[in-house]
Amino acid sequence: MSIKTSALVAETAGAPFVQRTIEHRELGEFDILIDIAFAGICHSDIHQVREEWGRAIFPMVPGHEIAGTVAAVGSAVTRHRVGDRVGVGCMVDSCGDCEQCKDGQEQFCDNGNVMTYNGRGYDGNPTYGGYAQQVVVSERFGVRIPDGISLDEAAPLLCAGITVWTPLKRWGAGPGTKVGVVGLGGLGHMAVKLAAALGAEVTVLSRSDAKAGDAAELGADKFIATGEKGALRKNTRTLDLIINTVSAALPMNDYLGLLKPQGALVNVGIPSENYDIAPFAVVGGSKVLAGSNIGGIPATQEMLDFCAEHGIGATIETISADEVDAAYERVVAGDVRYRVVIDTSTINAG
Ligand code: NAP
Ligand code: ZN
Repeated sequence: MSIKTSALVAETAGAPFVQRTIEHRELGEFDILIDIAFAGICHSDIHQVREEWGRAIFPMVPGHEIAGTVAAVGSAVTRHRVGDRVGVGCMVDSCGDCEQCKDGQEQFCDNGNVMTYNGRGYDGNPTYGGYAQQVVVSERFGVRIPDGISLDEAAPLLCAGITVWTPLKRWGAGPGTKVGVVGLGGLGHMAVKLAAALGAEVTVLSRSDAKAGDAAELGADKFIATGEKGALRKNTRTLDLIINTVSAALPMNDYLGLLKPQGALVNVGIPSENYDIAPFAVVGGSKVLAGSNIGGIPATQEMLDFCAEHGIGATIETISADEVDAAYERVVAGDVRYRVVIDTSTINAG
């Protein structure tokens, strides 16, 4: 018996959302059924629903920032019990056997992981994500949400949080390091909170000074309004690590100039256009230009535990199901403070 649930569905690329019933696979022995309470809106949802990254699978139910409680467990499930508070991010399954999975890097699964939506499960059927009242996932992809974090503020941690946590840890953000965060949106505001809690000195680079006050409240020490003439040049060779969260292609050479020699600029934003990079911009100061893709399940749990310990949740605006189309426009305009979260109890398939 498949599992029927109310969801927000885009029937075709860029179509407005409709509320209707969709079907998930029946609960397998290693699966858990989750009652979703909140789902964050990530800019990646917009890229995919609008096919800005290429052909996508429709109908689509986006949403990979999921927080809720376990409603049922398969017969062989050992990690979760009914009633547990759980989160789900960008993946719902992986082979579990390859070198990457064994290393807790399921995002790089050699056999191809299963994305939470706009993907296909190992049964060949399309996956549907978090803009819904329920979801079925492999038990390995449900992470424990500590009691200290409310479910609404936890939801965005499952993508925005882990995506910036991974490069901050990999490139050693901490006391004595100077970290720049480019773009103060969903990912950017989490990067500020996490880098500050890790002990780094944090500089926010935002297009105008409109978010300067917020940046300081989120934990930033410095603020650069990049739209002001000469703003980047004045700050050359000042940063050890830059996390670029911008969803459009920035002039990479200018941003590489902000790094000290041997510093690293990590792109987590995924614009649909290419970057233009001069060889000397990286060779000159022996700089690292890197990318980073979400994070594995053990790291996601580590990040959630760190957030609970430091009293960190996302800064959110909660909306109902009929406000999602309008919210997408506000995300694209960079107008959200700082993550929109859907109260999934408002989805009504009629
Ligand atoms: P978001 O909330 O829209 O934030 C992006 C921020 O970038 C905006 O708030 C804005 O900040 C700045 N920005 C937007 N357009 C810009 C432009 N044309 N020029 C300069 N700055 C601009 O988006 P998000 O959800 O944080 O996602 C950001 C990007 O990361 C998206 O491309 C998304 O697909 C990608 N992503 C990647 C991963 C991964 O695994 N690597 C995971 C999740 C998301 P200011 O107003 O401060 O300038
Ligand atoms: Zn995301």
